[in-house]
Amino acid sequence: MAIFKCEKCGATKEGRCKPKKCTDCGGNDCMIKKEEKGSGCGCGCKAKK
Ligand SMILES: [Zn+2]
Repeated sequence: MAIFKCEKCGATKEGRCKPKKCTDCGGNDCMIKKEEKGSGCGCGCKAKK
């Protein structure tokens, strides 16, 4: 599972794959991957939480 965040409205959504559009603001292709669960802290340092 990974967490995706909308660049436009900041809404977050959990999912296995990247959502095509934001369910909150309806923006297309604005969801960016925020972090992947179980693979580090999300800042790129690979440290386990
Ligand atoms: Zn949005």
